[in-house]
Amino acid sequence: SLTLGIVGLPNVGKSTLFNALTRNDVLAANYPFATIEPNVGVVELPDARLTRLSEIFGSERILPATVSFVDIAGIVKGASVGEGMGNQFLANIREADAICQVVRVFSDDDVVHVDGRVDPFADIEVIETELILADMQTLEKALPRLEKDARKNKDLAVLLDAAKKAEGYLNDGKTLFSVKGEFDLSSVRELHLLTAKPFLYVFNADEGVLTDDARKDELRAAVAPADAVFLDAKVESELLELDEDDAKELLESIGQDEAGLHQLARAGFHTLGLQTYLTAGPKEARAWTIRQGDTAPKAAGVIHTDFEKGFIKAEIVSFDDLDTHGSMNDAKAAGKVRMEGKDYVMADGDVVEFRSGV
Ligand code: GDP
Repeated sequence: SLTLGIVGLPNVGKSTLFNALTRNDVLAANYPFATIEPNVGVVELPDARLTRLSEIFGSERILPATVSFVDIAGIVKGASVGEGMGNQFLANIREADAICQVVRVFSDDDVVHVDGRVDPFADIEVIETELILADMQTLEKALPRLEKDARKNKDLAVLLDAAKKAEGYLNDGKTLFSVKGEFDLSSVRELHLLTAKPFLYVFNADEGVLTDDARKDELRAAVAPADAVFLDAKVESELLELDEDDAKELLESIGQDEAGLHQLARAGFHTLGLQTYLTAGPKEARAWTIRQGDTAPKAAGVIHTDFEKGFIKAEIVSFDDLDTHGSMNDAKAAGKVRMEGKDYVMADGDVVEFRSGV
């Protein structure tokens, strides 16, 4: 499955956040056959629609989709020149599908900052610089070969062009993801550049920042088009010990209306380019993970590869229609249940039953 790699400078709260993620781990309870790596935290994607489906279908249990975060330890500064653990750090980032940077914006005199001051913009730049330098090295190696081969191969000429354009952005100190509005990231996919991965920023904040909308807007704007999540990692770990009412009260006291881990799960899912569709029956109400833009047969393949091969059609009702009408029969009577063929592109919230020939 796709993963987000958690990175950040020392002492910004990565371990605190990661521990909260792993303690919130649902896999052990819901997915007993899953293997869990020690450096992977798996969190549920909160989805109130599943609760409603379980009421409509009398489902015994609810299985939400999940999002996986990998803890990428190692030093950051100097990584691109292979200092110490730097190479390993970059290799681990290469394996992740998206980069989740934890940035410190909380003030606490007891927690030393590596550079002696809390400056989220400078911290972001430190990490980005290492990733940009690593990409520049990758291009330095790839370009001479591309120049040579492009003379004989037209496809490579297109790639060469895109690679040169990418080099220009990196020379300007920009990550490729930050210019995705003007630069087609898929044009350099085969070069596996680190800064072309999607980015997500987690601002580890205190009450002062969490209740300061202008400050949050400023930080959000600085990292756009990446998603930004604001949470207090220390509070998130405390929440896990509390019952629902006390947790709600604690969140409200720091100006949050939802647990940060929930926001993080949703943002992570979005950053990875994923979406869900839903199935429901007496046994379970379940969310299945697909990529945005997947067709019905592809979606069926997530349940079982045979479902993709033998796909005939899908019976689909949107969650909102089903919710309104209260049962499959009533939704059908209202003409809200559709039969879709193999070219149908799945929409978020589709409630589906597949018909297959196997
Ligand atoms: P890492 O080096 O990035 O993994 O950082 P840690 O998670 O080990 O956190 C470093 C220190 O900061 C620890 O003493 C944490 O208790 C503290 N810390 C982490 N998050 C917060 C936070 O949101 N607020 C405050 N005040 N302290 C925090």
